[in-house]
Formats: sequence, structure tokens, C-alpha cells
Amino acid sequence: MAEEANFKCLRCGQEFKLPYDPKAGPQERTCPKCRSNSVRRIKEQKK
Ligand SMILES: [Zn+2]
Repeated sequence: MAEEANFKCLRCGQEFKLPYDPKAGPQERTCPKCRSNSVRRIKEQKK
């Protein structure tokens, strides 16, 4: 089963969720808004 992880674009600040498979290793992510590949995984913050 694929997990979902939060990602944030470092270029435009867009936050989005993508399926994330820890077994798949590092994968190149692309921001859906500006198509930058400067995307970082962020931890979901619980309030
Ligand atoms: Zn972006």
C-alpha cells in the first residue's frame, strides 16, 4: 500500500500530497504548480 506524504515546493511554496513509497528510494518530484523540481518532503504537523 502506498503512503501519502506531504511535499512542499521550495520555489513557489505550494504544498501538496503525493504517494510516497519508502521502498522505492529517492524519486524526483515535480511541483504541480510551477513544475520546479525543488521539492521537499515535509512532515505533517499535528495540531
Ligand atoms: Zn512550485
